[in-house]
Amino acid sequence: MVLIDGKKISLELQSEIALEVKDIIAKGKKQPHLAAILVGDDPASQTYVNNKVKACQNVGFKSTLIRFETTVSEQKLLSKIDELNNDDDVDGYIVQLPLPKNISEQKIIEAIKPSKDVDGFHPVNVGRLVLNLPTYVSATPFGIVQLLERYNIPTDGKHCVVIGRSHIVGSPMSILMAKNTKLANCTVTLCHSHTKNLKEHTLNADIIIAAIGKPNFVTADMVKEGAVIIDVGINRVNDASLAKGFKLVGDVKFDEVSKKSSYITPVPGGVGPMTIASLLKNTLIAAKKEF
Ligand code: NAD
Repeated sequence: MVLIDGKKISLELQSEIALEVKDIIAKGKKQPHLAAILVGDDPASQTYVNNKVKACQNVGFKSTLIRFETTVSEQKLLSKIDELNNDDDVDGYIVQLPLPKNISEQKIIEAIKPSKDVDGFHPVNVGRLVLNLPTYVSATPFGIVQLLERYNIPTDGKHCVVIGRSHIVGSPMSILMAKNTKLANCTVTLCHSHTKNLKEHTLNADIIIAAIGKPNFVTADMVKEGAVIIDVGINRVNDASLAKGFKLVGDVKFDEVSKKSSYITPVPGGVGPMTIASLLKNTLIAAKKEF
């Protein structure tokens, strides 16, 4: 069994991005610039955004954090988005989700200029993904295909079972894995909460991508010998032996599934660290105006 080291690959990708940034600046071009909008003071969102800002500094990007109180109106947020859409210095930006209930996330996402939507959530970018056109692929699925690539894991003609159909992970993941590209070309089965006999599907899978949000959901009896296991789940489970009172576990029962798998991502340290590297990569694509 090979443990897929997302932390290591993420740092490798960030070093490669930093080199490209040096090259861009040496050629006298503008420093790539990522902006982030954060509404409210949710601790998890603050941590995510702070990590993104820190990662920008590490690779030599300019970064701007724009904060609003939870009470901000939808109109005020839309005005800021309009400003960012028209600011030539900003190559790409993100709006950290979730937003307060009085603000329509869909309306906000649709207001982002697709060419600056480095999270890849705008319907235009999702549509481009479906049509196999150059686009910003949302960070988590993009991170997963890069892990598969860096570990030279064969995908062509393989059967990939994706569990979960969310807009940010499962659905784009299933589209990506089915694409006619060197990074994918799988036969894909997309399973979800209404799938009957899930185990029949997973037992036939060469690659399982679990994005469910239920701790230890995928067990050894559901997995074929030698399967590749990608665990997207990040779940808090109580652990009184730890000072913080909880630990993070994935959607896969790691101890038993790892014994049957050929490759597996740990939680933490697998898919998670790739998310930031993918966002930076999308920002670089935006700065280079590749499409
Ligand atoms: P979600 O709640 O939006 O979607 C969960 C999906 O699981 C749904 O489509 C549902 O149909 C499916 N599901 C639920 N119960 C099921 C069952 N019994 N059988 C089969 N399918 C079932 O969640 P999400 O946003 O896609 O996130 C999934 C997990 O991935 C969460 O733990 C989340 O924290 C984690 N996540 C991790 C990263 C990362 O960077 N590693 C990024 C995003 C999400």
